[in-house]
Amino acid sequence: MNRTLPTLFARRRPAPETVLLDLPGGQTFTYGDADAASAAIANGLRAAGVGPGDRVAAHVEKAPEVVFLYLACLRAGAVFLPMNPGYTGGEVEAIVGDAEPTVVVRSIADIDWLAAAQPTTFDSVVAEPDDVAVMLYTSGTTGRPKGAMLTQANLASNAAALHEAWGFVPDDVLLHALPIFHAHGLFVALNCVLANGTGMVFLPRFDVDAVIEELPRCTVFMGVPTHYTRLLGDERFTADVCRNMRLFVSGSAPLLASTHEAFEARTGHAILERYGMTETVMNTSNPLHGARKPGTVGLPLPGVEIRLADQDDGGVGGIELRGPNVFPGYWRRPELNDTEFTTDGFFKTGDLGTFDDEGYLTIVGRSKDLIISGGLNVYPKEVEDALDAIDGVLESAVIGVPDADFGEAVVAVIVPEANAALDPEAIRTSARARLAAFKVPKRVVVVDELPRNAMGKVQKAALRSELA
Ligand code: AMP
Repeated sequence: MNRTLPTLFARRRPAPETVLLDLPGGQTFTYGDADAASAAIANGLRAAGVGPGDRVAAHVEKAPEVVFLYLACLRAGAVFLPMNPGYTGGEVEAIVGDAEPTVVVRSIADIDWLAAAQPTTFDSVVAEPDDVAVMLYTSGTTGRPKGAMLTQANLASNAAALHEAWGFVPDDVLLHALPIFHAHGLFVALNCVLANGTGMVFLPRFDVDAVIEELPRCTVFMGVPTHYTRLLGDERFTADVCRNMRLFVSGSAPLLASTHEAFEARTGHAILERYGMTETVMNTSNPLHGARKPGTVGLPLPGVEIRLADQDDGGVGGIELRGPNVFPGYWRRPELNDTEFTTDGFFKTGDLGTFDDEGYLTIVGRSKDLIISGGLNVYPKEVEDALDAIDGVLESAVIGVPDADFGEAVVAVIVPEANAALDPEAIRTSARARLAAFKVPKRVVVVDELPRNAMGKVQKAALRSELA
């Protein structure tokens, strides 16, 4: 059984000279290098007083050393706590105050300092399945920060499931362009590669030029929807650039069906969309073999139970999950276990979804983004899909703003295609032909771009407060 990450990674332990990280400038780090570096850092952590279960926080830019720090924490039995390097001092302070880490790493120099003059072998602590391996503070929260505790078993079972579902093979090379402070870049991308015992081209960040240059020597890419729209916006991105690719994966935010179709037309590849979240790692995936349905997030991964609570007439309900992937709870917030989990152990994701007759899940939005206008439910995704289909509309975000008459009024924020001039009244007229009157936006606002976070998620809370 692969119930801890070390046992999973040991299953396909490669020769020490196998390249793990391949950097754009030509620098490489092998598995042997990673072993030595993580051992030295683990010794440094121990010398700094870090014992099993202690938190090690990292507020630092993406770099190979951060991968070694992650591996060092696993070896020392410490809890790795990465933070978005874009966080401000106040945000970092709130997380550090809550997590009480033994060590806070603020720079690559700090990691070098920890490792300096330390032995390059380390007697790793034997991990147990229920040990907390990583803590991630959830994005988009208001008020007190919440640390999601992810256990060895959560991460190992999920990485094993994805490794299997996505058919990793011994000569795979992943192009890693995601941040590593988030589930997507850390648990999906990095852990799959480590479970496969192969290497990755490791970019400091997503950059269209670098991705187009590196893709020809890669076989797997994982991105957020914005990455795919940026690639499609560049004429140099062709089927030829993707000639060695076998798999493109998308997640963290909804991939428009139109992006999926344009990508397939350009490259011949159907993007495989999957759905996950910090607290549950990955939940569903479109199949590797079989229909990848645009606009859906696919089928539950093996072992993951999914149900829809309080379904309405259209079959839309609150997505609830149970399985080996689901975290045990938030750090020092036992009261949330009562509100965020059902009595029979399902986690309430806060997402709304619907199943089709083949069991494919479609996400229609976050429950907190649901608009109730004049007492009727309006699902933003349905309105966004209708607006996106109008000529000249590149993308849209639909929100509810307080309204004296309707309780909430539907408001659409629209980004035009390049060189398209959009008239808000004409948009409303077109929408009226496609949507029931109560779903038609009362107001249409045209903007240059939508506010997005580092993972490509549209920041609806920011739009709501701006347009209220
Ligand atoms: P995070 O915890 O930051 O990973 O955010 C998780 C949330 O991202 C989920 O609860 C969903 O609302 C959203 N999400 C992730 N993947 C997808 C997807 N493929 N389609 C739509 N929403 C997604």
